[in-house]
Amino acid sequence: MNNHLIFQKIIRKEISSNIIYQDKIVTAFDDINPKAPIHILIVPNCFIKTANDINKKNKNVIAHMFYIAIQIAKEKKISEDGYKIIVNCNENGGQEIHYLHMHLLGGTKLKTLY
Ligand code: 5GP
Repeated sequence: MNNHLIFQKIIRKEISSNIIYQDKIVTAFDDINPKAPIHILIVPNCFIKTANDINKKNKNVIAHMFYIAIQIAKEKKISEDGYKIIVNCNENGGQEIHYLHMHLLGGTKLKTLY
């Protein structure tokens, strides 16, 4: 199975996951293998493969993903202490699932890469 289908199935609720938030544009759910106390993935409901596939037509979706990530951070009460929002792209960026997603990480002091 192409691994992007995993996220499509989560969005369509064909496989179970802990969905935190869903609307017509995005879905947010707990990462199956959390790297921090809070580790939530925010994905567009329409398929976008990687960050390279953001274009004039779908760029508003990305703004909404960002907005929702921050609303969730506030709701989870990690916004004041801080958090990371990460988007991995392709091989060198460490993208394993080829369905664009944001990682929202928080709840602890996170290591920084640079
Ligand atoms: P990437 O490395 O592509 O940026 O991140 C993919 C993320 O998807 C990883 O953090 C991984 O733990 C998560 N993941 C992979 N398969 C599943 C799944 O079936 N369900 C959920 N909830 N997360 C998954």
